[in-house]
Amino acid sequence: MTQYGLLLVDMDGVVWRGGIYVAKNIKALRALQERYKIVFMTNNSSLTRAECLDRIKAVGISSEINDIYTSSALAAIYIEKRGVGRTFVIGEAGIYEELIVRGIPIVSEGPEVDYVVVGIDKYLTYHKLSKAASYIMNGAIFIATNEDPTYPVGDRLEPGAGAVVSFIKTVVGREPDFVAGKPNTWILDIVVDKYRLKKEEVLVIGDSLHTDVPMGYRYGVDTMLVLTGVTSERELSSAKTKPTYVVRDLLEALELKII
Ligand SMILES: [Mg+2]
Repeated sequence: MTQYGLLLVDMDGVVWRGGIYVAKNIKALRALQERYKIVFMTNNSSLTRAECLDRIKAVGISSEINDIYTSSALAAIYIEKRGVGRTFVIGEAGIYEELIVRGIPIVSEGPEVDYVVVGIDKYLTYHKLSKAASYIMNGAIFIATNEDPTYPVGDRLEPGAGAVVSFIKTVVGREPDFVAGKPNTWILDIVVDKYRLKKEEVLVIGDSLHTDVPMGYRYGVDTMLVLTGVTSERELSSAKTKPTYVVRDLLEALELKII
């Protein structure tokens, strides 16, 4: 047995990459779920938690909706804790659904807007950006789901939520009040509290040196970088924040008895 009780596992780049499942990691996760509590996370704001759950279950990994955290879910939880208010959204189904299930009113027009939530939006228009910026300048709380500049689609990189957030930052002249997703450590606060864990009992597993690893490092928990996603070995050698472990895939982590 290891010291860990809970694995906080990134989805994109670990469970799947783009639309394709990562077979070796899935095989390992099926074995790991017998020994560990597994909580899944993603910075992807467009997917709903139900969609994530369907994808995970489709390959024989058992989970439940409350063990999945998208950056949209974290943004909605933040609003719920801070005080429900009228919310304007730049984003897709993932954000809308999380707000709706928590009874947070979504508005498409001002003037009274309490929160502006900004995520990736493939139907983005200048008009929407303009409205979002004006509500923030009028006092609405500016929430970004995440600030990832890009995300991988096959061999290409597409603009991520960070690009949309940057547009608004430029207009309003300031940073978001809250960034829900990684590398913000807030999810770790939630998980540690919910499962009553010590930091030593949590292992963060992900494929990114920009989100997963710095999040774990800042919070003071161990991290495992899996090279099945966005990070190459070359990138790793020049990284400032090194993960606790590096593995080619999660089967290797099992073989090496790290987990
Ligand atoms: Mg990832």
